[in-house]
Amino acid sequence: MITIQGKGVSAGVGVGPLYFYHRHDSVVPRYTVTDTDAEWHRFKGAQTGAVEQLGELAEKARAETGDEGAQLFEAHQMMVEDLDYEEAIEQRISGQHLNAEAAIADAGEQFAAMFEAMNDPYMQARAADVRDVSRRMLDILAGTRPDTFDPEGPVVLAAEDLAPSETIQMDKSKILGFITAGGSGSSHTAILARTLGIPAIVGAGSALKPEYAGREVILDGATGNIVIDPDDMTRDRLLKKREEQQRLQRLLQTLKGQPNTTKDGRSIRIYCNIASPEDVHAVQVNDGGGVGLFRSEFLYLYSADYPTEEQQFEAYKQVLSDMEGKEVIIRTMDIGADKQIDYFRLPEEKNPALGMRALRICLTRPELFRTQLRALYRASAFGRLGIMFPMVASVWEVREAKRLCEEVKRELKEEGVPYGEQVELGIMIETPAAVLLSDRLAKEVDFFSIGTNDLTQYTLACDRQNNNMGRFYDPHHPAVLRMIRLTAENAHKDGIWGGICGELAADLTLTETFLAMGIDELSVAPRAVLPLRNAVRMTDTRQSGPRILAALESEYDTV
Ligand code: PEP
Ligand code: MG
Repeated sequence: MITIQGKGVSAGVGVGPLYFYHRHDSVVPRYTVTDTDAEWHRFKGAQTGAVEQLGELAEKARAETGDEGAQLFEAHQMMVEDLDYEEAIEQRISGQHLNAEAAIADAGEQFAAMFEAMNDPYMQARAADVRDVSRRMLDILAGTRPDTFDPEGPVVLAAEDLAPSETIQMDKSKILGFITAGGSGSSHTAILARTLGIPAIVGAGSALKPEYAGREVILDGATGNIVIDPDDMTRDRLLKKREEQQRLQRLLQTLKGQPNTTKDGRSIRIYCNIASPEDVHAVQVNDGGGVGLFRSEFLYLYSADYPTEEQQFEAYKQVLSDMEGKEVIIRTMDIGADKQIDYFRLPEEKNPALGMRALRICLTRPELFRTQLRALYRASAFGRLGIMFPMVASVWEVREAKRLCEEVKRELKEEGVPYGEQVELGIMIETPAAVLLSDRLAKEVDFFSIGTNDLTQYTLACDRQNNNMGRFYDPHHPAVLRMIRLTAENAHKDGIWGGICGELAADLTLTETFLAMGIDELSVAPRAVLPLRNAVRMTDTRQSGPRILAALESEYDTV
């Protein structure tokens, strides 16, 4: 029995024979040309062919995985025609007299290296997309077809790495699990595996040897554990786990459309956290009641310059329209700290988490804030919008933000631009100052949403980005739990609602505690909705409630 540890990126247990997918990376022909025009036309032909192929793949992906998968290929289509990429190719053909193949390969590598050098893991994962797009054009020029995956029966698929287009072309009914030597949790294979509910592990490294091909393997996508030639005990244990998971999955599917009501009749709203308009599909599939946190940063992060009012308006409008009247809470930009953007030209800071971040930037550079607020209010005419401000520490900040909202509304009215009259305004509670002032802040806004990721960081003085903090970064810490309780109490004293949108909201070991505290809403990743609904429906707070609250006051004091 051989055990390999990778990184689990899609939960579930898969068992079957190991199948290695090899991509024959053919040698890219490289020579100089005299007729650069002819070479340019060869490139343009390959480009057109790639756009067509990608259009077909987008349709296939849409049928299999919905808009989320299709969007990937539409993004590839844009990449193929990206002007910077095209210019890099053109410059190699006409400037260096390189043949089209070498120009495409070199430009592709240049862009892939640029993505790999970025700090954001999501952007790093885009390097695979550029390589994929370049390879497609090289295949077209060479007249070769992409490698095929055609095992006799279902297999656990192993590969060095998988390009998104390779994954989508495979017959998923023959895939019991994915294992890749490289890759990351944000890679498209990981995203696709999660969407399809196929267990997947990335980063298995060189321990995953091609000579294991054909041998029995069990992978546990939750733990990242891979076992080759499992002994009977291991096989039994993991198969039992799989059975249990499948039973739970079946149960969760029956909960779609059911209320989030406890055994003693208490109800709670379960909303979703999303990061782009494409995520709405996952909200719908998982029966989320609304969007509790739309992180608007994606608009800024994946753009070379400040997104315009129009671009923002279109994105917000799309989410609001797609959510068909369900509540959508959009958080204004939370730039700074872990989300640095070059074109913001923020001054270098020793402690960015304690520096110019989120609402602080908005109040210092109101012209940026205004653009976002105008886009938000304009979009509010298309659905039920809530706006929330991150990183609040003082009452004056909220008052100033509200004043800017009023100004923007006045402007729109004067211009005759429609906006919703019922937009709720809320704040994220993610600093101890906001918790301690929550009695006063509750008089200023319509709701609180507790950001436990930052609240834990700032309460415990523990950097959330620092992987070495171990048990010192503890969202279950009694100080954090008391902060949540105090926030909920102060919200209710003033008749506003209080929710949680940090990672802790999905922590099922705390669901009962949050219900006992009177939390009104929990906003979680779409795939966490049904497990959370299940936990809520199993809860009876009549007896546990008082005990849990008493424990918060006493027992925890001794921890
Ligand atoms: C939080 O801090 O808990 C939160 C939801 O915001 P983010 O993780 O985006 O900082
Ligand atoms: Mg936060």
